[in-house]
Amino acid sequence: MQASEQLRASVRDIPDFPKEGILFKDITPVLANGKLFHECISLLCETAQGQQVDKVVGIDARGFIFAAAVADRLGCGFVPVRKAGKLPWKTRGLAYSLEYGENVIELHEDAVFPGENILLVDDLLATGGTAAAAAELINSLGANLIGASFFIELTALQGREKMPPCPIHAILSY
Ligand code: AMP
Repeated sequence: MQASEQLRASVRDIPDFPKEGILFKDITPVLANGKLFHECISLLCETAQGQQVDKVVGIDARGFIFAAAVADRLGCGFVPVRKAGKLPWKTRGLAYSLEYGENVIELHEDAVFPGENILLVDDLLATGGTAAAAAELINSLGANLIGASFFIELTALQGREKMPPCPIHAILSY
């Protein structure tokens, strides 16, 4: 079996979690398998192939798991984008719409610098609201978003259309 097929077979579908009508993609079986997790990180790194990456930005909360491992593999820094009120220093925040209501994410003001090359990493691209807001925060601090890597993309939700122009890769598409 190819690595991507093994990864696909290990993602567990949980219907109606955390609320009715959502088919939740549970990635914990992938994380628990050392060989698969290693392979997953290698594939996430491919988006940045041939490019100098200064920092990997990961999105709260499952994104941290992948982004921190990608940063370590690429030999660069890791920066967390968090839900409002979680970061202790001076922040820059952005509100974006959810299906119902809105959410705010924040980045430390001094987490990325003008001209730095940034790779954005998250576990899953759904409507794209979260990743697009993170991308806007990165760009607003003058850094260059050189690409975005996702483990999973739910293509029907067309999340990549919300993203600024940059290479966007997902290991698994549903
Ligand atoms: P979105 O802003 O709609 O692209 O949502 C992306 C974020 O929500 C990601 O950080 C995911 O962790 C989470 N998410 C959205 N939909 C799902 C799903 N079906 N299964 C697991 N996580 C999801």
